[in-house]
Amino acid sequence: MIALARVRVDAEKCVGHGRCYVLAPEVFEEDERGHCIVIEEDVSEALADEARKGERNCPEGAIRLER
Ligand code: SF4
Repeated sequence: MIALARVRVDAEKCVGHGRCYVLAPEVFEEDERGHCIVIEEDVSEALADEARKGERNCPEGAIRLER
C-alpha cells in the first residue's frame, strides 16, 4: 500500500464527541473514555477520504492529515 497521508489526533484537544469513529470506523476507534484512537495512521487514498470525514467533522479540530 502506498500511503497517501498520515493521520494525527491531538489528544489534548480530543474531548470524545465520537463523530470521527462513527463516521470513519476503519480509521478511528474509541478508547475506554470515548476518546479517539487512530487505527490506521498511514492511509491509502480510499481511507484518506474516510479520515477527512473525521477531520471535517471534529468540533475540536483535533484531527489532522499530514502529507
Ligand atoms: S470527533 Fe474529535 S473530539 Fe470527538 S472523539 Fe473524534 S477526535 Fe475526539
